Amino acid sequence: MIKYIVSLENANKHLIDVCMVIEQNLESGQEFWLPDWIPGSYMIRDFSKNIVSLSAISNGKSVNLIKKNKSCWILEQNVVSIEISYQIYAWDLSVRSAHFDDQHCFFNGTSVFLGLRNYEASEHSVEIIQPTNSGCEQWKVATSMPSSSINSLGFGLYICKDYANLIDHPFEISDYLEVKFVVNDVEHRMVFTESPKNIDLDRIAKDVQTICQYQCDFFADSKPPFENYLFMTFVQKKGFGGLEHMSSTALHCSHDDLPKIGDDIEKKSKDYQTFLSLCSHEYFHSWNVKRIKPAKFEPYQLQQEVHTELLWFFEGITTYYDELFLVRSGVISKENYLDMLARNITRYMRGNGRKKQTITESSFDAWTKFYKQDENASNAIVSYYVKGGLVAFCLDFEIRRLSNENKNLDDLMRLIWKNYGKNNIGVNERDIQKTTEELIGISMNDFFKEVLYSTKELDLKSVFNILGLDYLLTSESKQMDKGGFKKALPQSKPVCSLSITHKSNSIGAEIVSVLDDGSASNIGLSNKDIIIALDGYRVDSSELDKRIASYPLDTEISISFFRRDKLYHRLCRLTASEENTCFLGFSGEKTNSVFNDWIDNR
Ligand code: ZN
Repeated sequence: MIKYIVSLENANKHLIDVCMVIEQNLESGQEFWLPDWIPGSYMIRDFSKNIVSLSAISNGKSVNLIKKNKSCWILEQNVVSIEISYQIYAWDLSVRSAHFDDQHCFFNGTSVFLGLRNYEASEHSVEIIQPTNSGCEQWKVATSMPSSSINSLGFGLYICKDYANLIDHPFEISDYLEVKFVVNDVEHRMVFTESPKNIDLDRIAKDVQTICQYQCDFFADSKPPFENYLFMTFVQKKGFGGLEHMSSTALHCSHDDLPKIGDDIEKKSKDYQTFLSLCSHEYFHSWNVKRIKPAKFEPYQLQQEVHTELLWFFEGITTYYDELFLVRSGVISKENYLDMLARNITRYMRGNGRKKQTITESSFDAWTKFYKQDENASNAIVSYYVKGGLVAFCLDFEIRRLSNENKNLDDLMRLIWKNYGKNNIGVNERDIQKTTEELIGISMNDFFKEVLYSTKELDLKSVFNILGLDYLLTSESKQMDKGGFKKALPQSKPVCSLSITHKSNSIGAEIVSVLDDGSASNIGLSNKDIIIALDGYRVDSSELDKRIASYPLDTEISISFFRRDKLYHRLCRLTASEENTCFLGFSGEKTNSVFNDWIDNR
């Protein structure tokens, strides 16, 4: 048994104290290690950099641990038992590592628990000691880790069958708000840290329960594949993000995302819908990526990058379903769903990277490209989330077409769950195509080759034709315009655009990114340039798009801007952007049967 004792007395210094206790013989040369990345977030993060002190004793005498590399230590002598004490600097306010102050402590095991090389299959236990600092009296422990002996606040002993499980149950320890619900006899908890006290917990629980119930029914098992489930949400003024685990998820959201007591229950704000789709997304990952997973992640190699072409499937399919489940379960309206879908298409069309990178390449290079995006990302990278979600949409309708409406993507997911996830068999790069062909008995080679291994534009128009929906792509008039659902589609009218994104700066509009081939790109405007005037008249970020759009197409204007400290004036011929903004609408009074079957899931 490997035991970790976690003490939380150093909130002001953001230091988590850990004592790793091993009561067994270990030989000199024994390795201890810490993961360099966390499953679900594909970037080397070097969590070991946050270990600020480390010492070991055996039988009351100090023992040397020699650093082998950035995240591995070696025992210098034989011991009959050992205690390793170390401190973790926890000041990363994200779902990916650890954060500790006088308000809460959140941590992932990947940041906190040293592994004992070759003993990863052993049982591991964690004792969380109740902090004695004033202000922490109301703190409680939220985790999906199985408990062994805990008090009413959750402090005490937790036990995991192996190291892989140990690092897949993050902890949130604070005076959080909590609400519970049950799905198929399994308890689900939602905890909210630093949230406004007036959030409508019952309303949130009811909506999330509906989504969870729908997903459990989707897989048609009597029980979900976990003993309990925990949503832990950290609420801040502006925040968004989530990370999936076996039986829990860590989320960040904004104050405005959560409904308050007394709000109109008939109305769901766009922000709340976004929060619900985030919950839906991470919950679906319990199946798709935590249990149905790439063969290359069996087991996770946590001290090096692991490349897979399959992130389009695990993130894209999940992106497709997270919103579709909201409408199918009745949590949002059809109009709301189509609004989300249209905005996803806009997101896809706004990136020129889609013409250069396939989604399998984007998956493979996630470590160095998608997770390390710079100002050129929109010209170089396609998102395996966004395009992956649209590929899932196209795949759904291709399966329907080829099977004469007898099968759909839901059937494929259930078959993949049965063949792979339930049997703990990893998915190889070509298994998605293979399983789809097994489902419908027809070769899908051309389809998969085109959507996964080429940059050919997706044929969304054909799918919307089948669905009987109006589909319009139009050029953007301002960067805030993301398209959406409209009862009556707007007229497609090309307007002038610089094809840039920008933000406010004290002297003008600072360019964030420049899309290839747009008006601004053609005269060499670049990231960090600050536009200060158009035709000699001062301009700022709030009015730049409107002023540009007011010129007739092909007008030549003078743009004045600073690059570093030098002032430039360049002539720019204004053109319209690509048709990169999507609107969807109902074609007639009634929706057709294909649309109804799809969205109602009959
Ligand atoms: Zn995801």
